[in-house]
Amino acid sequence: MTESILVVNCGSSSLKLALFDENETKLASAMAERLNGQDAFARIDGDNPCVALPDNANHKQALQALVSAFRERQLMSEAPASIGHRVVHGGETFREAVLIDDDAVKAISNCAGLAPLHNPVNLAGIEATREQFPDTPQIAVFDTAYHQTLAPRAFLYALPEAYYRDWAVRRYGFHGISHFFMANEAARRLGKTPETTSIISTHLGNGCSITAIKDGLSVDTSMGLTPLEGLVMGTRSGDVDPGLFEYLRTRGVALEEVHKVLNHDSGLLGISGRTNDMRTLCELADGGHEPSALAIEIFCFRLAKYVGAMMASLSHLDALVFTGGIGENSVQVREKTLGHLGLLGFDIDTDKNEHHGRHTDGRIEHADSRFPVLVIPTNEELVIAREAFRLAQAS
Ligand code: ADP
Repeated sequence: MTESILVVNCGSSSLKLALFDENETKLASAMAERLNGQDAFARIDGDNPCVALPDNANHKQALQALVSAFRERQLMSEAPASIGHRVVHGGETFREAVLIDDDAVKAISNCAGLAPLHNPVNLAGIEATREQFPDTPQIAVFDTAYHQTLAPRAFLYALPEAYYRDWAVRRYGFHGISHFFMANEAARRLGKTPETTSIISTHLGNGCSITAIKDGLSVDTSMGLTPLEGLVMGTRSGDVDPGLFEYLRTRGVALEEVHKVLNHDSGLLGISGRTNDMRTLCELADGGHEPSALAIEIFCFRLAKYVGAMMASLSHLDALVFTGGIGENSVQVREKTLGHLGLLGFDIDTDKNEHHGRHTDGRIEHADSRFPVLVIPTNEELVIAREAFRLAQAS
């Protein structure tokens, strides 16, 4: 059996695992959902039936059950050669992936104030695998780390400087693992090296962000102190006027309620009043549901504005890149967004956009377009597996 690399991605009530061999071939993937609840379940992708879990299974129990299932199916030997964990927030401490030791665990825990919903569950996953595989090198790969190359002009808010000094209030940015993959994959497809390639990368999933990448490095990004800032998202508002908080207070809306609404009841869901799911929204809009059509309009207009904003950080542009569930699949979103950007010289080839390059090189721009436009499926698991392999080899 070949040596395997295990990739672990813990959400608040979910666990996703992926298993790669050393040649970057994905051997298997698995997931557990609704953890800590009565209807928790786990499954190896493409496999039936579900993997049995104890009642109210937690992350550790789900991990044990899925690892046993991998072993039973001869997908994994006793222990993987290395384990890579996705960790949401690395603060300013982590500029790149690290080998996990007690100090790293402490530092990740110290960043939890910046990501109270995410870092503690990421740590739960790390603790579970350290316990189960005490001799296996474990690596943390951070969603924020790629954006640590932002200059102060891009990461500082126009706030009293003590907010940054005392409380670490700044733009961190997220989706860094995906944007990093785009920087490398776009360069490869364009026949260039990442160090000489500048792109604007849009990651459009349930969460959405856009990043300016100059010569392979992140130089500006739309998400901020938290993943709430920037683009319109599934249930998140993205940018709003901060004056909204005081205005809503005068209307009797408590701060906690505003926070909840901006994160969970806004974005595509809030505008359409129906759904946060872009595919369903497109179907509703096609059927004449006007609030759904408006939600798509606002989503694309905000995105186009941000493409323009990202230009301020670049001296040349090799490609605009679309990724994430919406970016990879929504013909309409790509067409509408680029429709706002004619003045900058973007021009889409509607036929290529329809086929969106899944089976080609991913190019969807018209021959007259000033800039290439690429559709690239993201692969965050592969980035984590590569880092886990690289750092384990070096350890
Ligand atoms: P997550 O951020 O949870 O990983 P994804 O990257 O899978 O999410 O993106 C989910 C979004 O992608 C949803 O809004 C979904 O409707 C959208 N999506 C997936 N397929 C299509 C499609 N064919 N057309 C339009 N939107 C799509």
